[in-house]
Amino acid sequence: MSTLDDRIDAMDLWHLALPVRSRRDHGIGSVAGQCEVVILRLRTGSGAEGWGEAACWSVFTGTPEASYAALDRYLRPLVIGRKVLDRAVIMAEAQRAVAHVTEAKAALDTALHDLAGRLSGLPVHALLGGAAQRRIPLSVSLANPDFAADLELMARLYEDGIRIVKLKTGFAGHAFDLERLERLRRDYPDVALRVDYNQGLTPETAEASVRDVAAFDPDFIEQPVAAHHHALMARLRDRIAVPLLADESVFGPEDMARAAQAGLADGVSVKIMKAGGLGRAQTVARIAAAHGLTAYGGDMFETGLGHLAGAHMIAATPEITLGCEFYQARYYLETDLLAGPCLYDGGHILVPDTPGLGGRPDMGVLNRFAVTRTAP
Ligand SMILES: [Mg+2]
Repeated sequence: MSTLDDRIDAMDLWHLALPVRSRRDHGIGSVAGQCEVVILRLRTGSGAEGWGEAACWSVFTGTPEASYAALDRYLRPLVIGRKVLDRAVIMAEAQRAVAHVTEAKAALDTALHDLAGRLSGLPVHALLGGAAQRRIPLSVSLANPDFAADLELMARLYEDGIRIVKLKTGFAGHAFDLERLERLRRDYPDVALRVDYNQGLTPETAEASVRDVAAFDPDFIEQPVAAHHHALMARLRDRIAVPLLADESVFGPEDMARAAQAGLADGVSVKIMKAGGLGRAQTVARIAAAHGLTAYGGDMFETGLGHLAGAHMIAATPEITLGCEFYQARYYLETDLLAGPCLYDGGHILVPDTPGLGGRPDMGVLNRFAVTRTAP
């Protein structure tokens, strides 16, 4: 019989390259052809399993190769032979065992939560404090350099009930950004609009550009300038009436504390892949809230497995009030990894109430798209 006293006796890894539907451009770089994730499975002696995902982007968080190596070489010894309930100790040791690789740590924390949830019969959100929200408003990001293709996607999104979109800007000139904003505002007046520069503006042009964009009254403008330009972020925040959001400037709780002190934004995009785990992501949102700042449920180029982890975290974090962007599994990947359940309900993400994450990978998809693997 499986119990929470079970010890973890195996860790399996897959590095996947998953085909995507279109090219996407961003202020810091493009994604085309495929996106890459590392999938982790922990197993106990009694045969229980826990799953986690590291979704990496080399220009933002790091590389899949680094996450794979961190898990395989540096984090594996912290896990094998340990009890499932040793999660807090294992994650504290993981913080010290290897610097950065926050996506690898998020995958490990996710798999430990999934395993504990499955063994206790509780959904992951219950392990994190209980669900304050079970249907999370969904935002879809538009980033195709071919705007006509994005308008086709937009028609489908609207039909599906999506009422929040985030326009990626700062990769092909200011005029292109304004033209797209104008068109979206005109054709979809009832859709909430958000803007994300992914650091795409220079110090010389940032203020004039964000002023023009603010005139379209988006919910927020995200990370207009380089992650480390804290003083410039703070200055831009003071010059526009629209809320400014930090994304690349804030990874974990330590960054959030510094950002709050520096007054560099009105809110933060919280991601488990940046924070290095579910509990650490909750802490980011709570530090923000304690300083009167808002929080948004961001993500990386994730499969449905990564979305599930984020959805449980947001469900148990009432401080995250701006919805989520877990759209990739349905609207960007050619084939999602998740065998079930369906996360999508119109313009919302549904948070499962079944034990653990409430879903696991389709083994056929896992094996078909594996570039490297440790598992037989
Ligand atoms: Mg962003």
